[in-house]
Amino acid sequence: MTTRRRQAALVGAALLLALPVRAAERPTVTWHPAKPRLGEVSWVHVQGAGDATTIEGALGSRSLAFFPYAGGRAAVVGIDLETRPGPEPWRLAVLEPGRPPRTLTGKVTIQRREFSVQRLTLPTGMVDLDPETERRAVSEGERLRTLYRTITPERLWRGRFVRPVAGDKPPSGFGSRRIINGKPRAPHSGADYAAERGTVVVAVNSGRVALVADFFFPGRLVAVDHGLGLYTLYFHLESVGVVEGALVERGHPIGTVGATGRATGPHLHFGAQVGSARIDPAALLSLEVRD
Ligand SMILES: [Zn+2]
Repeated sequence: MTTRRRQAALVGAALLLALPVRAAERPTVTWHPAKPRLGEVSWVHVQGAGDATTIEGALGSRSLAFFPYAGGRAAVVGIDLETRPGPEPWRLAVLEPGRPPRTLTGKVTIQRREFSVQRLTLPTGMVDLDPETERRAVSEGERLRTLYRTITPERLWRGRFVRPVAGDKPPSGFGSRRIINGKPRAPHSGADYAAERGTVVVAVNSGRVALVADFFFPGRLVAVDHGLGLYTLYFHLESVGVVEGALVERGHPIGTVGATGRATGPHLHFGAQVGSARIDPAALLSLEVRD
C-alpha cells in the first residue's frame, strides 16, 4: 500500500468512526445484454463498489474474472451455443477491506436461438476415421479444451475487436447443426469467412499467441490468448507467421488463409471461446466494452 493510499484508508477509517450509521452504498450490477442469446457474450458492470473492492462471482457454473472498467469492475461471460435456454442465477461477492463481505444475486435469462442446418458431403477419409486418426483427433481436441480452461489472470485485450480478414462480407455458419454424409455431427463452433488462399489473417485484438499447431480437423492453426479466459482461433491456415509466446497487437498479421485440415476449400474458420463456452465471434466483434 502506498503512503497516500494508507492515509486515504486512515481518513476513511476515521470517517467510519465519526459516522457509525453511515449507509452502506449498494453497488449496482448491470448485464449487457440482460437477456443474452445462445452463443452471445454478455458483460456485467458493477459500479459504486469502492476502489479497494475485489469482486468474485459466477453466472450459473461460469466463474467471472473481473477487471477495472469505467470507474467500476466488469467481467465478460460467454453463453455456450448448446446451453439450455432459461433463467440462470448469478451471484457476486463484493469484498472490501474492513467491511463484511456483501453478496449480490439475481438472474439472467438465456434466450433461445435458431441455428441453421448444414448438410455437407465430405470424403469418407475425413469423416470415418481410422482408429489412429480418431485417437489423434480426440487428443488434439482435448489439448484445445485444456488451453481454453487455462485462465491468464490479466486482461490483454483493449478496445474494439476487428475482423480477422479485410472486407465487409459477413461470415457464415456459426452454430449450424451439421449433418455430414447423412449423420448428425457436432455443431459448427466458429464463423467461416470466405477468402482467397493467401489472404492475410490478422489478430482481432491484442494478446499472446498461445498455440501454433497443425491438427487433423483445424489444420494449421493459431490460438490467441486475450487474457481472463478469452481466446480467439484461426483455423485452416496456409501459413503461420507468428510463434508461440509472441505478443500481438490488434491487426497484427498472424498468417494466411488456406484449406489445411478438414476444409472443403480455402476459407478462414474463426472461433472464439470464453473459458469452455463456444461463442459467436460476431458477438465479440460487436462487444461494447470500449477502453
Ligand atoms: Zn468452419
